[in-house]
Amino acid sequence: MKKTEISRKDFLKMSGLGLAGIAFTSGLLGSATALAAEASHGSKGYLLKNVRLETGFVYEEGEVVHTKTELYCVSIKDGKITGISANKPNDTQAIDAKGWLMLPAFRDMHIHLDKTFYGGQWQATRRPQGGVKGMIALEQQILPEMLKTSTLHAEKLIELLQSKGSNYARSHVNIEPTSKLQSLLHLQKALENKKATFGAELVAFPQHGVYYTDSVPYLKEAAKMGIDYIGGLDPYSIDGAIEKTMDFTVQLALDNNKGIDIHLHEQGESGVKTIEYLIKKVNENPALRNKTFVSHAFALARVDKAKQESLAEALSAAGVGIVSTIPFGGLIMPIPTLYKYNVNVMTGNDSIIDHWSTFGSGSVLEKANTMAQLYGYSSEFLLSRSLKLATGNILPLDDKGNQQWPKAGDTADMVLIDASCSAEAVSRISPVKSLINKGQIVY
Ligand SMILES: [Zn+2]
Repeated sequence: MKKTEISRKDFLKMSGLGLAGIAFTSGLLGSATALAAEASHGSKGYLLKNVRLETGFVYEEGEVVHTKTELYCVSIKDGKITGISANKPNDTQAIDAKGWLMLPAFRDMHIHLDKTFYGGQWQATRRPQGGVKGMIALEQQILPEMLKTSTLHAEKLIELLQSKGSNYARSHVNIEPTSKLQSLLHLQKALENKKATFGAELVAFPQHGVYYTDSVPYLKEAAKMGIDYIGGLDPYSIDGAIEKTMDFTVQLALDNNKGIDIHLHEQGESGVKTIEYLIKKVNENPALRNKTFVSHAFALARVDKAKQESLAEALSAAGVGIVSTIPFGGLIMPIPTLYKYNVNVMTGNDSIIDHWSTFGSGSVLEKANTMAQLYGYSSEFLLSRSLKLATGNILPLDDKGNQQWPKAGDTADMVLIDASCSAEAVSRISPVKSLINKGQIVY
């Protein structure tokens, strides 16, 4: 890594960016505002110069000890990367990427954009009695007030995610008799306001149970209102029935050609049974394959190693993914086992600041860092692989070190990061300097 750092410093000197520290804090738009604004709005496209891309691994005695990078020009037009060419540091028409590392933009795949205190006053959590049912009673009290500012707060939260390098989220959105469809409508308004710079897919989330409070009519209506997934919540502990609730969820998804992403916190037998029942349903209905996810799935952490392996194998075979916030403390998920069987593993912040938790940073790069620490992914190779948790499984280099991203034709969704390589970015949670969404320079 040392060699790259030196060459990068030399490069910065050569480009006359002696005040690199100052230039770095301003982002891409700081140094090329007019040019970038023109370029990002027009359809004639633009060229980025001094873009650092990973080009391969350096091996010593069979082990990856270093990641090679070089500086390139990257051309962007109509939301796509149109070409990667030799660097032209003296091209005055090009926007200067300052030697920052280009990585795929990040994706937060489990968050509640519709229901947050972010952008409002600080409020620590006050957990009521009665577990999730106690929280449902609390929500019935506070949601009407929260809905008054939910569009504004969603926009603020989107800006936080963007500042941490995410240009895309899968947001769960409350669908229950208290909010009815208001939470969805308010979030859709925020997303409309942000659509030039941020993309999202939505999960209709029966936070108060499908049957525990009668959310069925609202879920049926939401399914016709531009959502992408049918959600769920602990069918046994909330609704008192695994099969009845899961059958409804599966049928609603099938009838409306949607995916499924259920919250499953249940840690005992009911949690395992719910996962197994969902796998069975997906196997019976191939339309749900690769479109079905279990969020949290804490039950996987509580079973023995052999059961973890067999469940991971069954999840993979059925095309059912796991979305984990990478918890630590009393509960450690078997993430390495899921990876071993090629289960689609994704992550998200879930809560940023709300009545459930106040510890969300908004960074999924931080989630990749937490994963690397928890599971001992500390080598250059394993750190570089850990980046996929933040990027939605896109990596610049494949496992053999062949360059696979970016390629001409790829959607121009990327971040520029103040790091020498992916491994450093994950290990140091390096600062994100610029975000580009479908060719549009966000900052
Ligand atoms: Zn959640």
